[in-house]
Amino acid sequence: MKKKIFVIILVLTIIIFIYFYAFKNKPNVENLSDGREVTKEDYIYKDNLLDLGYNINEIKVIEKKISNINTKKFLLSKKYNNLTKFISSPYFNINNIERYDNYYKNNTSYSIDDVVIYVEIGLDNEFYTNIKEIDNYLDVTALVNKYNKLPDNIVFDDLITLDKRYSNDGTKQLRSEAYDAVIDMIEAAKRENINLLVISAYRTSARQNSLFNNSVNKNGMEHALLYSAKSGHSEHQLGLAVDFNTTQESFEKTKEFEWLKNNAYKYGFILRYPKGKEFITGYGYEPWHYRYVGIDISTKIFKENITYEEYIVKFSNKSYQ
Ligand SMILES: [Zn+2]
Repeated sequence: MKKKIFVIILVLTIIIFIYFYAFKNKPNVENLSDGREVTKEDYIYKDNLLDLGYNINEIKVIEKKISNINTKKFLLSKKYNNLTKFISSPYFNINNIERYDNYYKNNTSYSIDDVVIYVEIGLDNEFYTNIKEIDNYLDVTALVNKYNKLPDNIVFDDLITLDKRYSNDGTKQLRSEAYDAVIDMIEAAKRENINLLVISAYRTSARQNSLFNNSVNKNGMEHALLYSAKSGHSEHQLGLAVDFNTTQESFEKTKEFEWLKNNAYKYGFILRYPKGKEFITGYGYEPWHYRYVGIDISTKIFKENITYEEYIVKFSNKSYQ
C-alpha cells in the first residue's frame, strides 16, 4: 500500500515537472522582452506571431523594435514579407510596410534603408500623384515638391522687395527671414569678388501657372516637367527660394556657382536640385536655384550631402515605433 502511494506521488511529481517544463518552454521566448516581466498578453502575442508564420528570430526582432501596443496589434493582421528587415531601419513607419515590400520587389538593388527612405519620400508613387496639401506653409521648413502642394490663395504678410543692388529689376520679393539671409549672403560674396543677382524669387500661383504653361509651349511637356513646377508645387511660391544670375546649366562653370556650392549653407540656403538626385527631387539639375531652410538645417544637409526630401525623412524626428 505504501509502495502504491509512493508510486502515485512519484508519477504526479513527474507529471507536474513535465507540465511546468512544457509550459515554460512552449513559447520559448521569455528572453525576448527587454528585462521586463513577461505577461500573459506577451505570450498570446508571441503565439499569434508564431501562428502567422514568423520564426523565433523574427519575433525577437519585432519584440526588440516595437513597443507601441497599436503597432503590435497592427502586425497581427497578416504576415508581412521582409518585415524584420524593414523594421530594423531607423526610418521605418509601420503604416507603409506593404509599400516598402512592393517597392523593394521592383528595386532589388537598393539597400533596405534606401527602400524605406524613398518610400517615406513617396517615390513609390509617380510624381504628381498621391499629392498632399501642406498646412505648415508659414514655416521656413515647409516641404513643397511634386507630392506636397501649397493650398490655393495663401497670403504672406512678410514679403519684402529686394532693391536693384540685389535683384535684376528691383521687384523681386522674399519672406523676411530669407530676405535678410540672402542680403547677408550677397554682401559676403561681394567682399570676395563674387557677383550674385537674384533673377527670380517669390511667385504667385498665377505667375507660376503661366511660367509652367510657357515652358510647355516652348520646350514640350517632358522638359517642362523636369525644369518647371506646376502651380502649387513651386518653392518660389513659398517666398523662400531664389534663382541667381542665369537659368543656364553653364552657370555651373562660373566662380559664382563655385562660391555658392561651398558657402550658401552658411547663410541657411541649400542647392535644392543637385546633380544625380533628379530621381528624388523630381527636377533636373538647377545650379542656380537655392532654397532657404535656416542655418541649422542647411548645415546638416551640406555635411550629409543629401536632398531636402532625404533630410525630412532622416532628421525630422518622427517615430512610429
Ligand atoms: Zn528656381
